[in-house]
Parts: sequence; C-alpha cells; structure tokens
Amino acid sequence: MKPLIYDLDYPVLEKALLALSEPAYRARQVWQGLYQSLWSQADQFTPLSAVLRQKLGETFAFSHLTPGPILDSSDRQTRKTMFTLPDGYAIEAVLMRYGKSGAVKTRRTLCISTQAGCAMGCVFCATGQMGFKRHLTSGEIIEQILFYARQLQPMGEKVTNVVLMGMGEPFHNYEATMQAIDRLGDAQGFNFGARRFTISTVGLVPMIRRFANEHRQVNLAVSLHAVQDELRQSMLPVNKRYPVDELLSACREYVDKTNRRITFEWALINGVNDSVDQARLLGERLRGLLCHVNLIPLNPTQGYAGQGSTQERAKAFTAELARFGIPCTLRLRRGIDIQAGCGQLATGKTR
Ligand code: SAH
Ligand code: SF4
Repeated sequence: MKPLIYDLDYPVLEKALLALSEPAYRARQVWQGLYQSLWSQADQFTPLSAVLRQKLGETFAFSHLTPGPILDSSDRQTRKTMFTLPDGYAIEAVLMRYGKSGAVKTRRTLCISTQAGCAMGCVFCATGQMGFKRHLTSGEIIEQILFYARQLQPMGEKVTNVVLMGMGEPFHNYEATMQAIDRLGDAQGFNFGARRFTISTVGLVPMIRRFANEHRQVNLAVSLHAVQDELRQSMLPVNKRYPVDELLSACREYVDKTNRRITFEWALINGVNDSVDQARLLGERLRGLLCHVNLIPLNPTQGYAGQGSTQERAKAFTAELARFGIPCTLRLRRGIDIQAGCGQLATGKTR
C-alpha cells in the first residue's frame, strides 16, 4: 500500500521528494498544497509539473478515509460522517456548530477519532462496547480534520476547535495523536495552534504524567464520572489499574506543573452517579484545584440500560457543586437523533 501523505512530517516529505530527484523546495509547495489549499488529489497540484504530479500520485496515497453518507441532525447544528479505512474498519467524526452562522463568535468544533473502536471497555460507551480494532495513524487523524476543513472552505468557514473525543482513547495512541497535533500546528501549513485542541482521556495515569512533563498547550479533559472507586470501576474498568486517588493526584501534578486548567467530564446517569451526596464528594475532592466540570446527561446506547439524569437531578447536582466554588457547565445533548452524541459512536467492519 502507498504511504498516506499526511503521515509524513515536513523533513520526511523533503527527503521523499529528494528521492524523486526533486529539489527540497518542492516540499514547501506540496506542503502548502496539502495544508493551505487543502488539495486532496495529486492532479490538483497545478504549481508542479505534470510529470511530478504523476510521480506524487504514484508514490503517495492522498486519502485513507472513504466518507459514507453525511448525516445532519434535525436542528442542522450537528453533522456526522462515517469513514471507511482501507482495511475495512470504520470511524466517525462529528462537526458541531455553536452560535449563528456567519456571526463572529460562531465556533465550529470538530470531534474526531483516534482509534477504530476502543480497548477501555467503559460500559456506557458504544465505542467501548464494540471493542478495540486498531490505532489510527497520525495521517488518518489529520485527514478527518482536512475533510471537514474542505467542506467548510467554500463557505469561507473554518474548523475553529478540535476535540479528541470521538472513537478511541487518545492516550492509548499517544504518539500518533501528538504527531497529528504537531503536524497541523505548522505555521507554514495548516497553522492550527495546539491550544485549539482538547484531549479527553479515560484516565491513563502514566500518560497524564508524560503529557504534563511535555508542557503542551493542548487542553486536557479527564473522564471522571465518579469519585468512589467501586462505582467508578463498575463503569470504567480502567479504574482497577488507576484508582481515583492516583488519578486525581496525577491531575493535581498536571495543574501544578503546567498552570493550566483541567476539565473533568461527568456523564450524569439517573440514580447512579447524580445524587447530591455524590456532588458533595466530588466538590470535596476538587476543592482548590484549577478545574472545570462538564456535566452531560448520559446518552443512550444499546449495550447499557442506564438513563440520563432528569433535569431536576442535574440541576441539584450542579447547585451542590457550586457551593464548593467549582465552575461547572451543564451541557446540552447534541446530535442524538443521528447517534452523534458523546459515547454513541460505533461502527462495524464495513467489508
Ligand atoms: N476515550 C476518551 C475520549 C472519547 S469519549 C475518554 O473516554 O475520555 C468522550 C467522552 O464521552 C468521555 O468523557 C466519555 O466518558 C463520554 N461518554 C462515553 N459514553 C457516553 C454516553 N453514553 N453518554 C455521555 N457521555 C459518554
Ligand atoms: Fe474508550 Fe472513551 Fe468510550 Fe471509554 S468512554 S470506551 S475510553 S472511547
């Protein structure tokens, strides 16, 4: 199989062009074509000679993702696309619009996948329920973003934020994830700053420590969902390996080292983790930490019977947290009608 061109760092692309007997500066033209003009086929690279365009096409793959139908939610604010990979596995990515179209403050947040499936087995997550298929390469992570950037381009719009909250556990595919972020950050290319990315992790403690030591500008979110080990373990098997105490101390280290705010995610499940007592326990654990809590009523999935909390319980939980001075946001569900909500992404093998 031909190498996917988005898997190449700039110096590697330079070497590849030298190997094709091209001067190094050609790499700049190819890079700009890929990441600024957003070209997706060798024959679009018109600044290059026809001979080189042909060589490029023979040497590299320009796409590993074959998009399926585009699904729009009924409010047209959420769009989901499934992509088939060359080996038949499939992934999904979701674009969310916030604010009025054309308004200065409109955000277009893209939620992308880092793995086909996931090995972490969280019981309420459709991706976890399907099991692990494989890691995505950095180029496959990048291509999801380029796909949506190309869609928005004719309307003069851009992806403004990327969250790594689609299928997969980004810290289980650490290298490829960071390579993708670094490659897209290049000012001569896509120029997408690290601070516009948010990584969400189920709580792989050694990777949180590594991430803290690397002092990256990428935002960090941690899926907490419970602060009692027994309960957390029943939902997130990974808690056996990295229990709450250990996880929260790694989070504190992260904040101390980087001075960056950390986000905790908490899917509110009716009668499971949404009592006022549990909010108090959470408040006590997080007191004094530079953090934010994102509460989201659980989205339904086939393999889990729990239900999202009622408005009333969600509000009571929020109010209790507020007593501890912990900033929190009660999130709206999005894209439920097209199974594009958090934890609803799942695909079979498509061939
Ligand atoms: N693997 C990473 C990122 C992908 S999941 C992680 O687990 O953090 C993104 C978020 O959706 C996580 O906070 C996850 O706990 C949450 N989630 C999973 N299933 C959900 C569901 N059914 N309803 C609401 N949130 C869910
Ligand atoms: Fe994997 Fe995240 Fe789903 Fe857990 S919630 S199974 S870590 S994708």
